[in-house]
Amino acid sequence: MQRGLRKICPAEAGHVRFVALLLAALSLLSAGAAWAQTEIPKKRRPVAAVELPSPTPNDEIKSIKSYGYGSTGSPAAAPDRPSGSADGQLLASQARPLPPPSATGLQLTVRSDLSAVSVALTRLVEVQVFTLANPYRVVIDMADVRFELPARLSQHAGGHVRAIRYGLIAPGRSRIVIETTGPVLVEHRYQSQTNNASPPILNVSLRTATEEQFMASMETARAVNPTTFVPPAAPIVPEGKTGRPVIVLDAGHGGIDGGAVGAANTVEKEIVLAVALKVRDELRRRNRYEIVMTRSDDRFVSLDQRVAISQRANADLFLSLHADAVPDPAFADQARGATLYTLSEQASSRAAQELADRENAADVRAGFSFEPDLNPQVTSILHDLALRETRNFSIQASKLLERRLGERNFLSRDPSRSAAFRVLRQPEVPSVLIELGFLTNEVDAKLMQTEDWQRRVASTLANGIDAFFSTRRRANP
Ligand code: ZN
Repeated sequence: MQRGLRKICPAEAGHVRFVALLLAALSLLSAGAAWAQTEIPKKRRPVAAVELPSPTPNDEIKSIKSYGYGSTGSPAAAPDRPSGSADGQLLASQARPLPPPSATGLQLTVRSDLSAVSVALTRLVEVQVFTLANPYRVVIDMADVRFELPARLSQHAGGHVRAIRYGLIAPGRSRIVIETTGPVLVEHRYQSQTNNASPPILNVSLRTATEEQFMASMETARAVNPTTFVPPAAPIVPEGKTGRPVIVLDAGHGGIDGGAVGAANTVEKEIVLAVALKVRDELRRRNRYEIVMTRSDDRFVSLDQRVAISQRANADLFLSLHADAVPDPAFADQARGATLYTLSEQASSRAAQELADRENAADVRAGFSFEPDLNPQVTSILHDLALRETRNFSIQASKLLERRLGERNFLSRDPSRSAAFRVLRQPEVPSVLIELGFLTNEVDAKLMQTEDWQRRVASTLANGIDAFFSTRRRANP
């Protein structure tokens, strides 16, 4: 095996050095070509090929609503904006890695038949804009953009816009969802900036369209970028069992899906995460369980992913935490306290059904499009004998949690209900969903934000979980 170790004479060595230098130069050149390629801007494709006229000062402006914009309508000064990046396409030419871009302002301008959503960014980002039906939505997907905007953007409505939401949908992927009042045609473009001191602004213009035009533009977007409709992969969960019961704690909502917004600026996703983390810590201290969280930070997790995490973890109990909001402000004062839900295809009341519909729409709010969640075959399985056992355990867990919550005065007036919640459809895992209180009730909203309330409700839930597993141990020694 000495073939490769032939001695090299000095003349040959010079030749080898020359060839090596030539190769190095060639590789440098090709690297340079790759650099040049990254600098060529990718062509953005509008969802619908509609040229919207730029509004002129003579257009009648019906309303302007803005966050992070000055009174003159110009964007607020943006932090850590790289210099010289305002002419359109300079992202790849920066020598040092840049901090993630931020969205620092959002403005909705309504003119006669034109609603313009403008987003002030600290620098240019690649965007994909597409539409979804049922309900009508315009989705703006961007790379990692930090949002420095208030949480109550859902109240940003007018013209064609019913609501605006924003947030992370996956690590490194950000999204703005504009829910519209009907079918629209969309055009998006960056406003060209002549003044380098101003950050770039992404303009998304909406104009009334027919249903046919809307559906055609939706199909075009789907054809251009079919992967847009695939939700991100579920987080890894521990495989196999250690012999201890596995509890999946499911903090509802997250990321772009804030859930209910209530009195005193409370946002459901924040409160339920705070409580879920405290329940986790409380259970860890008791050292009797394996704990799996469907999320432990502010990220979007789809409903199907939550169920998949529970199934992959081979869970012995799935506990989903939420906070309710009364849709009718006239009744906001009356409803307060916690309510426990188990699965039933026939809801225990109309209010329970409406709540399940709202909670089941989480993925839709986040700008995802899914097929109907169950076919009739799966529904018939729900009446199976195997399921009945799981259902009995779910009801038992719910009753034990309810008793503990009742002893500490956490409960609502009608605390035991059932409805067809998507996250509770787990044929082999006892599952309970708890609405911890009503964000629309001022007393509840204030209480639920306090560390003290969160800690007390967490230890009460942990006591209920202990009670459930101690009865199961007695039943199966
Ligand atoms: Zn919820």
